[in-house]
Amino acid sequence: MPVKEENASSQTLSRAIEDYLKAIYTLAGDQKAASTSAIAKRLKVSSAAVTAMLKRMSEAGLVRYQRRRGVMLTKVGTALALETIRRHRLLESFFTDHLAMDWHQAHVEAETLEHFISRELEKLIDTKLGHPSSDPHGHPIPSAKGVVSEEPLKPLTELPAGTSAMVRRVSDEDSEHMRWWKKIGLVPGSPIRVREVGPFEGPLLLEIKGKPHHVGRKAVEGIWVAPDERQKKLVSPRKAAHKAGKR
Ligand SMILES: [Zn+2]
Repeated sequence: MPVKEENASSQTLSRAIEDYLKAIYTLAGDQKAASTSAIAKRLKVSSAAVTAMLKRMSEAGLVRYQRRRGVMLTKVGTALALETIRRHRLLESFFTDHLAMDWHQAHVEAETLEHFISRELEKLIDTKLGHPSSDPHGHPIPSAKGVVSEEPLKPLTELPAGTSAMVRRVSDEDSEHMRWWKKIGLVPGSPIRVREVGPFEGPLLLEIKGKPHHVGRKAVEGIWVAPDERQKKLVSPRKAAHKAGKR
C-alpha cells in the first residue's frame, strides 16, 4: 500500500539523517566543520552520496554546508545529534547493566534501536539506570537538555614512562579491540601505570591493576585516561549515578 511505503521510506530517511548528524558531531563537535571525505569514510558510503545528503540536510536547516569548507551542524542539527547520541548511550548502558550483553553486542543493538525508541521509553531507561552521566565505555551521556559534560582526558599512548593514570574512556569502534581490552582489564575505572616506553615510539610496558602487560601502541589506541592527580577523588560518575538512583 502506498501509505505504508511512504512511512517506511521516511523512516529510512530519518534514520539516515540521524546517522549523518551523529557522524558529524563525532568528527567535529558543534563548533568545527567536518569534511565530506571524513563523513564518507565513517559512514562507509561514497562522497557523492554524502554530498547529495548534505544538500538535503542543509535545506532542512540541520547543517550549513559549503563545498570547500565542509559541513557544520546548526543549533537544530546539534540538538538532534545529541538526542540520538543520548539514546544510543542510554541503550548501551541498559543492555550491559540489565541484560548482561557484552560491549560489542550492546553497541550493535543500540545502533539500530537509537532511531526508534520513544521519549517515554528513553525516560524510563534513564530513571532505571539512575540518570548516568557516562556509558559503559566512559563516553559522556548528553543530558535530556543536550548538555554534555566533557572531562579533559589524554590518550594513553601519550603518557611518559613512570606515570600513573586511571582509564576513563575506551573507543567503541572496534569489537576485537574492545574484547581484548576487557580481557586484560583496560576498562573505565582501571588504574594503570606506564612502566616503560620503548624507544622511537616503541611498545609500552603497562601495569594494569597491578599486573604487567607488554602492549604495542596500535593495540591501545582509543584508550583515554585521566592523569594521576585526579585519582584520589575518582569515583566513576557512572557508579555514583547508579548509587544515587538506587537510594
Ligand atoms: Zn556504542
